[in-house]
Amino acid sequence: MKRRDILILAAVVLLAAAAFLASRALNMGAEEDRVLIYLHNEIYGSYPLEERTVRIEQENGSLNVLRITGEGVYMESANCKNQDCVHMGMRTADTVAHNESWITCLPHGVSVQLVLAAP
Ligand SMILES: [Zn+2]
Repeated sequence: MKRRDILILAAVVLLAAAAFLASRALNMGAEEDRVLIYLHNEIYGSYPLEERTVRIEQENGSLNVLRITGEGVYMESANCKNQDCVHMGMRTADTVAHNESWITCLPHGVSVQLVLAAP
C-alpha cells in the first residue's frame, strides 16, 4: 500500500471510531426511560424511572424535592418564591408526547427533563 492509502485508511478508521463514540454519547440512557436533572445547565443527576426522591440542595439554601415514580416525575416541593415548578405537575410519557418533557425552576436554576427510551 502506498503511504497515501494508509493515511486515508487511518482517517476512515478514526472517523468511524469518532462517529461510534458520538452516537453512543447521544444515545446515553436511551435504552431506558430516564430523568435528567440539570443544575445551572450542568448535569446534576440521571435516574431511571423508579420510585425515588431526589433532594437538590444548594449552598444558598435553595431546595427542590423531586419525586420520581414508575410513571414519571414531578416537583414535590420547593422553597422558591413562585412555586412554578411545583405547579407544573407531572411529566410522563403522555406529556412528552405533547412536547412537555421539562420541569424548570427558574429561581433556582434547576431543570428536569424526562427522556424516553428510543422506541
Ligand atoms: Zn421553583
